[in-house]
Amino acid sequence: REATSQPPLPPIQSEQPPHRTAATTKTLSTFLSGQTRPLSWRRKQLEALYALLTDQEDRIAEALWQDLRKCRQEAAAAELLILKADIAKLNRDLPQLTDIHKVKKTFISMMDNLGLQQQPYGVALIIGAWNYPFQLTLMPLAGAIAAGNCALVKPSEIASASAALLAELVPKYLDQSCIRVVCGGAKETQELLEQRFDYIFYTGSSRVGRLVMAAASKHLTPVTLELGGKSPVYVSEGVDLGQVSKRLAWGKFLNAGQTCIAPDYVMCPPELAQPLADAVAAQIAEFYGQDPKASPDYGRIVSDRMFDRIVGLMQASKADRATGGDTDRDARYIAPTVYTNVRADDALMREEIFGPLMPIMPVSGVEEAVYFINKCEKPLAIYVFTHDGSVKRRFEEQTSSGALVFNDVVIHAGMETLPFGGVGHSGMGKYHGRFTFDTFSHQRALLYKSSSATSEMVNNKFRYPPYNDSKLAW
Ligand code: NAD
Repeated sequence: REATSQPPLPPIQSEQPPHRTAATTKTLSTFLSGQTRPLSWRRKQLEALYALLTDQEDRIAEALWQDLRKCRQEAAAAELLILKADIAKLNRDLPQLTDIHKVKKTFISMMDNLGLQQQPYGVALIIGAWNYPFQLTLMPLAGAIAAGNCALVKPSEIASASAALLAELVPKYLDQSCIRVVCGGAKETQELLEQRFDYIFYTGSSRVGRLVMAAASKHLTPVTLELGGKSPVYVSEGVDLGQVSKRLAWGKFLNAGQTCIAPDYVMCPPELAQPLADAVAAQIAEFYGQDPKASPDYGRIVSDRMFDRIVGLMQASKADRATGGDTDRDARYIAPTVYTNVRADDALMREEIFGPLMPIMPVSGVEEAVYFINKCEKPLAIYVFTHDGSVKRRFEEQTSSGALVFNDVVIHAGMETLPFGGVGHSGMGKYHGRFTFDTFSHQRALLYKSSSATSEMVNNKFRYPPYNDSKLAW
């Protein structure tokens, strides 16, 4: 059985591996002392993390409002509830997750015992992005704790109020000798990346993802990269445009479009383009009123740099604007905006939009949509609105993406029994629920070989020299 259910063992005496500086060396020696191994420690930390989210709900909501003008409902649903559900489930499943799993025997191992042990890696580095600053740092942290690791968390400096709050609260609730928050931007992150960690979990752009992977390769450190990209939508004939536009507008304009799995652009047959644009425009008015700037439910762009980038895309686009288009740099406000007659070479199709702009690009049908998707990098999600089984099959069999969702958008991220992650340029590795536990665990093969005389006779007799034809025939 695993050490977690046994009385504690004496600490391991070990030389510190090279390329560790004070902070990580200290955390590593805590890990080697075995402090994070017992189930009781893991439970206590998960419960404390849960308590942090409950006790500090108001301050978390306030920080999210300051950084992104995220409304209370979005803060509750997309940060707090999703996190609490994940932490509670990990805590509940901990005994079963950490137990040694029996492995099926084969002919040559019929007299032995085989198992799989989930072992913590050691000290994990978790680097978060700014758009969901609590979820993207604390959800991986919960998995790292459940798996028995020490962790250093580096929130994004761009969501500065949230980063400061994490740095203040985490040490108050969690075991400081094993879990730390380090603040800073690109320079500080690069300094951290020079050190040797046992696991790196990164969320952010594909550009920085490459830097993280290059740094990790110097120490052969395994990585999870949660990246971005353009997640396409295909709307086929025969769907209820009222329902489709409601789901699309919610997923696109949530957090003012700054969601990694937001539907980036929409493809549909030409005859659907204008009715769909009209339906989305009507939905925007229903969600946010005639003036979304006055709506308490509509967010803001996180920084001036991001604002300028998105406005640059709007100015460069040659597509027709169906609704929206207002901007206000002082307030970092960009109205929910829909474009029609978008061409494949338009500015809006060049990079991940990561803002509240919805391009609708007419295509001749499902074949062209699939062809276009496959010409681009593999996305984090593909969304297909259809009731046609042959359209579903085509997407299932002929495309690749982190997730494939039929008749909805974004919502799969809240389903903890589904893995969340990308493929190709949208990332590698997966998390959420038990997948986070698996991510932060090394699966060690265990073999308890039989020493019996019968075992020597039966399944070992062919392996020792001198060899002869009868041994070969086996
Ligand atoms: P960001 O600027 O906050 O960067 C992410 C992290 O990388 C931060 O902690 C930041 O300090 C660090 N960083 C930035 N530049 C660096 C550098 N040069 N060297 C080392 N570290 C550096 O976030 P972002 O990159 O603007 O995030 C937006 C991207 O992230 C989008 O592409 C989005 O789709 C993606 N994203 C993906 C997910 C996911 O779960 N897959 C979630 C959120 C965001």
